[in-house]
Amino acid sequence: MQLLSRRKKIVILGGGCGGVVAATQLGRKLGADHDVILIDRRPDHIFMPAFLFVMIGERQPRDISRNLKILEKRNVRVIQSEILGIDPMRQEVTLEKEKINYDYLITSLGLQTRPDLVPGFAEGSQHPWEMESALRLRESLEAFRGGRVVVGVPLGPYRCPPAPYEAQWMLDGYFRQKGLRERVQIDYFTRDPEPTGEAHDPVVWMNAESQRRGIKLHYEFVVRAIDHEKKVVQGLYNYNLPYDLLVMVPPHRPAQVLIDCGLAESETGIRVDYDTLQTKWDNVYAIGDCADMPASKAGGVAHQEADVLAHNLAVEITGKGRPVDLWLHTI
Ligand SMILES: Cc1cc2nc3c(=O)[nH]c(=O)nc-3n(C[C@H](O)[C@H](O)[C@H](O)COP(=O)(O)OP(=O)(O)OC[C@H]3O[C@@H](n4cnc5c(N)ncnc54)[C@H](O)[C@@H]3O)c2cc1C
Repeated sequence: MQLLSRRKKIVILGGGCGGVVAATQLGRKLGADHDVILIDRRPDHIFMPAFLFVMIGERQPRDISRNLKILEKRNVRVIQSEILGIDPMRQEVTLEKEKINYDYLITSLGLQTRPDLVPGFAEGSQHPWEMESALRLRESLEAFRGGRVVVGVPLGPYRCPPAPYEAQWMLDGYFRQKGLRERVQIDYFTRDPEPTGEAHDPVVWMNAESQRRGIKLHYEFVVRAIDHEKKVVQGLYNYNLPYDLLVMVPPHRPAQVLIDCGLAESETGIRVDYDTLQTKWDNVYAIGDCADMPASKAGGVAHQEADVLAHNLAVEITGKGRPVDLWLHTI
C-alpha cells in the first residue's frame, strides 16, 4: 500500500517540441516506477520549423511527422484526445472520454493560430504556420507567374520570431530557381522598428540580408485588416500595401482550454516562475510557447525548458541527484 502511494503520475499536455522532450526524459529517468502520460489531439508529433520547406515543395507532410506512440518505448503512455479542461483543485484533466488525475502536470500546449483576429485574413492571406495552410500556399506558389508577394507579421506573439525572415529568403530562392525572380517583387512588413546597431546583431544582420536579396522592408507597419477584394493590406494611419500574393503570419494566442481554466491570463501565455517554470498552481508547470517567458517562442527554448524541468522533477520524485538552474540560450 505504501509502495503504491509513492508511485507518481506525471501528465504532460501537448506532444509538440516541449511535450515530447519532457515525456522522453521523464520516461527514461523514471522508468516503470512511475506513470508518465502524454496527451495530444493529434496522433503525430509535427516538426513545425519544416513547414517552410513544405511551402516550397522540399518536404512532404510524412517527412516531418512522427507517430507519438513511439514514445511508448520510453515508458510513456500516449493518449490521443482533445484536452477540454484542467481542474487544479481536483488535480484532474478532462478529456473527451475520461478524466485523468495527476500528481504533476506539465502544460506544453503551444500557441494556437488565430486568423480570425485580423478582418479579411481568412479570405486574403496564406501562410506556412500550419501544415494544411503550408500545403495550400505551396499550390498557390506553383501557380504564381509574377507580381507582388507581400510577407508580414501581426501584432502579438507568434511562433519563431525569425521565421518570417527565413520565409522571405526562401521565397526569394524559390523564385530565382524557377527563373521568375525578375518578375516578382517581394515586400516585408513588420510592426517592429527598423533595427540599428552592430552588424553582428541578429536583427541588424537579418535586415541587411533581406536588403541584399532585393526585398523591400516596411518597418512599424501595424495591420488593421486585409481587403481581399482590392488585394490590399490595410495598416494604421492609412498606410496600405497592395499585394498579388499575401503570406502573413496569423495572430497566435494561448489554447482556449488554458484561457478557460484561468491558467493563461495574457496573450503571451501562462505566467511562470522564470527559474522553476512553476505556475500559480501547485505542481503545475508550463514550458514552451504557452509559457510567458522572456524568450522567443521557439522549439529550441521549449526543448531546453523541458530538459531542465524533467531533470528537476525526476530529482524531486526519486530523491536522487541535484536540481539544476535554467540557463536559456536564445535570441
Ligand atoms: C514556420 C515555423 C518555423 C519555425 N522555425 C523554428 C526554428 O527554426 N527554430 C525553433 O526553435 N523554433 C521554430 N519554430 C517554432 C517551434 O515550432 C515552436 O516554438 C515549438 O513547436 C513550440 O513547442 P511547444 O511544445 O511549446 O508547442 P507546440 O509544438 O505548438 O505543441 C503544442 C501541442 O499541443 C497540442 N494541443 C494544443 N491544444 C490542445 C488541446 N486543447 N487538446 C489537445 N492537444 C492540444 C497541439 O496539437 C500540439 O501538438 C517554427 C515554427 C513555425 C510555425
